[in-house]
Amino acid sequence: MYSFNKITGHADTIKSIKNSIAANKISHAYIFNSDDSISREMVVQTFAKTLMCEASSVDSCNDCISCKTFEHQNNPDVIYIDSEDKKSIGVEQIREKLIFDINIRPYQNKYKIYIIKEADTMTESAQNAILKTIEEPCEYAILILSSTDYKKFLPTILSRCILIDLKPINIEDMNKYIVDNYNKKIENVDIYSSYSEGNISKLENIINSKEFTEFRNELIETTRMFLNLNIENIIKIKKFFEQNEKKYEEILNLLYIWYRDINIIKSEISTKHLINKDKTEELNHQATELTYAYLNRIIENIQYIRENIKRNLNPKLATHVMLLNVKG
Ligand SMILES: [Zn+2]
Repeated sequence: MYSFNKITGHADTIKSIKNSIAANKISHAYIFNSDDSISREMVVQTFAKTLMCEASSVDSCNDCISCKTFEHQNNPDVIYIDSEDKKSIGVEQIREKLIFDINIRPYQNKYKIYIIKEADTMTESAQNAILKTIEEPCEYAILILSSTDYKKFLPTILSRCILIDLKPINIEDMNKYIVDNYNKKIENVDIYSSYSEGNISKLENIINSKEFTEFRNELIETTRMFLNLNIENIIKIKKFFEQNEKKYEEILNLLYIWYRDINIIKSEISTKHLINKDKTEELNHQATELTYAYLNRIIENIQYIRENIKRNLNPKLATHVMLLNVKG
């Protein structure tokens, strides 16, 4: 059931949304952006449901006909547009479901809400087609563009929408989400929270993947090769990276968390801050083996690739350069 108090994290965003609802300052066009599709969906749906609710409060009542039909996805005044399993949303879909439809007044609500899912996949002509609707809005219509990467919108669209860019969820909220949703069945909650980087969609993927534990163990095994970067070990590390090329970002995240833990042990900071608590023995061993200078080189190089990986850095080359730099 969609309700603001059921959403994990995003407290500031929710507060400002509620404020604008309370002040009746509702815009005609919004972009809700996040690469965490689960969180984004929750916020978008709850916002739309609340606007439609007959109780006119800052959260939905779950009792009125509007809330009930919304939950069953058959509120006639909420129109969903998506790519229909194609790669993009074309101009035909926009014309049919939005441009022609918008002239029909709402059936039972004061608003009519159009939710465009993965709106950043709209073609340029589709985006141009909605532009007029945004520029000359109809008094009862609200457009919600839900997107993974708002930079894909035309500047003309961006400048006319209210952009709500959801930030990653903090680790305490992530931990709470796991405990609430998985009923303490999960051991080592911290590792899942850290690894999913404030992204609930990512978290759900990891928790539901049997391979995660296996993969993590294999990776920790590989970190032993870093203790002595001779040719044989370098080949082993490269092989591991190549075999898991699709998980390159995940490997880097896990490695980063791993060496951050070693740094905590070496710096004699309280071990309660450790994330890989279940691997303390191995961490301690590696902490005695690694010098500070060497450890810093590893952390700096991993950090560098993590920051640059999205800029089309070649993974194979990046690994090669990292190993050379670490070896010194
Ligand atoms: Zn209601």
